[in-house]
Amino acid sequence: MSAGYRYGFGGQEQDNELYGQGNSYTAEFWQYDTRLGRRWNVDPLFFKYNFLSPYSSFGNNPLNIVDSQGDTLTIGGNLNIAISDVFSIVDPMYHALIKITDNKVVVMATREMVEESNDPGLKILYDMSNSPNNYLYRVSWTSFERIRETNEIIEIDLSNFNYPSNVSITPRLEKGPAGMLPMEGFEGQVTIQPNRNATEVVDGVEYIKPRSSTVIHELIENFERTENGEPYICQQPNGKRDMNSIGAHDIAIERVKGGNPDIVGKTPGVSNSVTNQ
Ligand SMILES: [Zn+2]
Repeated sequence: MSAGYRYGFGGQEQDNELYGQGNSYTAEFWQYDTRLGRRWNVDPLFFKYNFLSPYSSFGNNPLNIVDSQGDTLTIGGNLNIAISDVFSIVDPMYHALIKITDNKVVVMATREMVEESNDPGLKILYDMSNSPNNYLYRVSWTSFERIRETNEIIEIDLSNFNYPSNVSITPRLEKGPAGMLPMEGFEGQVTIQPNRNATEVVDGVEYIKPRSSTVIHELIENFERTENGEPYICQQPNGKRDMNSIGAHDIAIERVKGGNPDIVGKTPGVSNSVTNQ
């Protein structure tokens, strides 16, 4: 490890002064002793939630703990709402695993813990904050986006639109216009208006879904486009929607099924004729 390299394994900052070169790494909630290869101060959370088992939850494999400083999911715009949005998509029983430091989202959990939680909000925050790609989540009436061809930054007024801004380095559609790019330094970007609520019409009755359902949908959709290169929706050669293959939008709908209905939205009667883009 070079002298200028600030982080030990898993992206945690080293604390050499206290424990000697390479022996101890600190993070906000726990400490890990590389000499023993396991946690030595057991966080109370591990007793509070039965899916968090002390010592065994890391599978004795420190390599599973990646980037716990969470430098790849940044929030911006109206920070109060953005912070509220981040927490709103996660079941309250896991809120203690999420921290926001310097506008970065930190998920203090291993992949195993996230999978065991079966919580789609915790999962997307974990996936984004541990991704090699950089993501930006903003709450604003305007979106700053880049023109793909010229890299010129333009401000888009979202107040006239009923849908959020969702841009990625990958094209929006399999065929057709490539669309805009995120801000410099980010591969994925979602901007949601401060008062945005998705609605759903079932049997002629319009239901207002919780704001969190829009947030989680857009984040998963953006992740699938950015990380996996999925098109927003799949198209046939004639440009019509291909209902036989699914794109990022459909994956986002699938992914939240089984999540807390107060968070991912109730879908009375039929599924997902949501006016959400
Ligand atoms: Zn969508």
